[in-house]
Amino acid sequence: MTFASLGLIDPLLRTLDSLGYDTPTPIQRQAIPAVLKGRDLLASAQTGSGKTAGFALPLLQRLLQQGPAVSANSVRALVLVPTRELAEQVHQSVRDYGRDLPLRSYAVYGGVSINPQMMALRKGIEVVVATPGRLLDLYRQNAVRFAQLQVLVLDEADRMLDLGFAQELDELFAALPRQRQTLLFSATFSDAIRQLAGELLRDPLTVDV
Ligand code: AMP
Repeated sequence: MTFASLGLIDPLLRTLDSLGYDTPTPIQRQAIPAVLKGRDLLASAQTGSGKTAGFALPLLQRLLQQGPAVSANSVRALVLVPTRELAEQVHQSVRDYGRDLPLRSYAVYGGVSINPQMMALRKGIEVVVATPGRLLDLYRQNAVRFAQLQVLVLDEADRMLDLGFAQELDELFAALPRQRQTLLFSATFSDAIRQLAGELLRDPLTVDV
């Protein structure tokens, strides 16, 4: 099994090669072809499974292939994460995987000044990786618009609920276009996660690795 056989395009394959990734992990084998086709995904995957590349690679490819250019203050893909550390880490991975593509990534999270984040969002950014509270602040201040949103990813959804982000998440979801692709990753599947998945996902592929 190779990354090429999963349907990824040459610029991504060359980047993976130079990063030394030669074989897709189990989550990548299942997620990449499904996400490329536009399917929603419900995935149980732990850190270390390669889940970040599992969603980031096909997401970048879809943004490249289906793109309107991003408008001012807009975002085309949103990755919600529970912590600032994970936001930085996922943002860095998206940058690494997309380094030869004309797509930008940016991380927003709380605990730091909001003004540089508002400035950075002004021109529009293809991929925003965000913690829910700060993103909601930015949205309320009209610094970010979701009309162009094509893909929503929830990473470590169980931890977001454990950290008390349910209300912020609900408010954000209400602001997103209904017509979009949604990918939900969670290490555990509580009733609350199942309910969230039921609300957000349409005919998802379920992946358990
Ligand atoms: P993640 O589970 O997304 O946090 O990824 C865990 C680690 O595995 C990261 O350091 C990735 O760079 C690395 N990784 C992900 N996919 C692959 C792959 N197919 N081959 C080699 N390393 C990988």
